[in-house]
Amino acid sequence: MPIDATRPYDDDNIFAKILRREVPCRTVFEDDHVLAFHDINPLAPNHILVIPKGRYVSWDDFSSTASDEEIAAFVRAVGVIAREAGLVEPGYRLLANVGADGGQEVPHFHLHLFGGRGLGPMLAR
Ligand code: AMP
Repeated sequence: MPIDATRPYDDDNIFAKILRREVPCRTVFEDDHVLAFHDINPLAPNHILVIPKGRYVSWDDFSSTASDEEIAAFVRAVGVIAREAGLVEPGYRLLANVGADGGQEVPHFHLHLFGGRGLGPMLAR
């Protein structure tokens, strides 16, 4: 079920549990501000989720309320993760779903990083 991205942060969401180590994940990258792990239901050979460690519901929340340090760390981390996965030369796609129309299901901001095959058109028509 898509979420309402205007709701307050819910500490029971699955990514909050991953951050608290209550639920396992296959970690790809971690620093003070960012965690990245493999999606449990991959839609491409590489399907990595990149999340801030702070409590942000969506891109809207993150982009408006995160500190410059958190935003810079996040953007830099995404670049590092893609480079370390060898995806710069073949190419990759970044995607953030926001709210109902975006199809966001987990109410903790995350970026999907897809790669490892030609990803086709940007959206289904
Ligand atoms: P979104 O629709 O943008 O909110 O995407 C949520 C993503 O989280 C989906 O691609 C799910 O497969 C993924 N997901 C849900 N639970 C887990 C989990 N425990 N570990 C890794 N990925 C998960």
